[in-house]
Amino acid sequence: MYTEEELTVKVGDKPVSKLNGHLAVRQGVTKTQLENLKTLHAELHQKFSELKEKDELTKEEAVEYFNEIRDIEFDMQDNWNFEKNEDMHSNWFKDPNCTCPYLDNVDSLGSKLSYYSGDCKIHKHMF
Ligand SMILES: [Zn+2]
Repeated sequence: MYTEEELTVKVGDKPVSKLNGHLAVRQGVTKTQLENLKTLHAELHQKFSELKEKDELTKEEAVEYFNEIRDIEFDMQDNWNFEKNEDMHSNWFKDPNCTCPYLDNVDSLGSKLSYYSGDCKIHKHMF
């Protein structure tokens, strides 16, 4: 079992989130994988914060951002010992910058469906 400290994601010295310790045990996540996951979560947190500073994105910037978040999610699945499956990605709509319909996207996890909003600064460029 991992300790609270081992599961805490930090940016600099600041704790920003915590990984699910039970899931880590169930998935057989190693210490190295846990460190990788913490790095990936910190990276995600920083991407979210950086985007907060921007009011508008060009289509090109939105696509680049979208791809970066997707790559982080794939790396996370890999380190959680889950199969890499884009249909299970959820961080793109948990992004505080995203205004796409949250619950609809939660409900459609595992399917090919995604719900985008025309006023989301990231995903309005995606359809
Ligand atoms: Zn969105």
